[in-house]
Amino acid sequence: MCCYVIKTKFLKGERRMKISKRAADVPPSATLAVTSRAKELKAKGVDVVDFGAGEPDFDTPDYIKEAAIKALKAGKTKYTAESGIVELRSAIAAKLEKENGLKYTPEQIIVNIGGKHSVYEAMQAVLDPGDEVILPIPYWVTYPETIKLAGAIPIIVQTDKNNSYKITPAQLKKALTKKTAMLVLNSPSNPGGFTYTPDELKALAKVLEGTKVVVLSDEIYEKLIYGDTKFVSFASLSKDAYDRTLTLNGLSKTFSMTGWRLGYAAGPLEVIKAMGRLQSHMTSNPVTFAQYAAIAALSDPTAGQTVEKMRAEFERRGKYMAERLNSIKGAKCPEPTGAFYCFPDVSSHYGRNINGMKITGSMDFAKAILEQANVALVPGLPFGCDNNVRLSFACSLEQIAKGLDRLEKWLTQ
Ligand code: PMP
Repeated sequence: MCCYVIKTKFLKGERRMKISKRAADVPPSATLAVTSRAKELKAKGVDVVDFGAGEPDFDTPDYIKEAAIKALKAGKTKYTAESGIVELRSAIAAKLEKENGLKYTPEQIIVNIGGKHSVYEAMQAVLDPGDEVILPIPYWVTYPETIKLAGAIPIIVQTDKNNSYKITPAQLKKALTKKTAMLVLNSPSNPGGFTYTPDELKALAKVLEGTKVVVLSDEIYEKLIYGDTKFVSFASLSKDAYDRTLTLNGLSKTFSMTGWRLGYAAGPLEVIKAMGRLQSHMTSNPVTFAQYAAIAALSDPTAGQTVEKMRAEFERRGKYMAERLNSIKGAKCPEPTGAFYCFPDVSSHYGRNINGMKITGSMDFAKAILEQANVALVPGLPFGCDNNVRLSFACSLEQIAKGLDRLEKWLTQ
């Protein structure tokens, strides 16, 4: 017989269950305050223009839904292999070879419950307490928390607005220490909307040669690139880069499948196996019928043109949003080359008092514009850039025009 004790402590006469220090130290998503207030206002009937979305506004394409329905009807409702069914891992291997020039066997690939889970599991599989992880600003909010949950230390590298916030080889070199275990790269970037060029990545790869640093290359926005931007997988740059890289990707953004929770990682066999061992105790496997839908998403002959339609629409919106922002005083931003975000520097408005609200940073800025002009956007502070705010263009052109009219009027009053 086993027995266990749940420690409790009394607080103001109430019995409270103990919370681990690890869990207590994880802050709630700092973007949540704005998004839940926006929801509250919308529920009250306020016409809020929402630039907060971190997901495509398109529905999942029908052929993918149909594949899931077919799988359900065929009884694909049981546990699968912990790393995902081999047919899906083979489809991912074929995709990586064809589109990214990367040769991985299905055993070098693991399917996870969303790209976020891939990131968490990768950190758990690679990092030890005290390890340092180089994280350029701006970073996606989940990276620092998953680094810390693995007991490692995020080494935040300040980047330069004039270099589109991309880390330079010199900055990378300076941040390297004997304790550096990992570099996190996310291109195209959330929240920055920038994409590293192949040459920029090559120069970073060169700096790492001769080190043991693992590169976590989050390529989840790879299909959403604009203009003459070229996407290249970090692992494809050289044999050295291939050996040190964990390539992370997922179906959420490319196929508008955020709710399906499908992400994956590819890399050295021993790391993928370690992730599989962790996964076998965490989730057993990715959702079974969703895996069959993922095979269809990746392999259907119409996939390319379906994705292209969404990409082209994002491109139109991103161009328009950037043009409009650049015509507003103190909202300058480069035209996005990837993902679906503009990330203007609005810090010239800090210190102003707008309709009785003092704007001291991005949190105040987001709060004030939501309350006063009913525009929801995401403050830059949780991404490490308090000078900026993030506007998603995963909404219609009409909404973008309306929201930017409001932003312009609010800022120029
Ligand atoms: N990486 C980045 C940079 C992201 O922005 C996101 C989603 N916001 C993810 C990974 C994870 O996406 P998902 O868990 O939906 O696959």
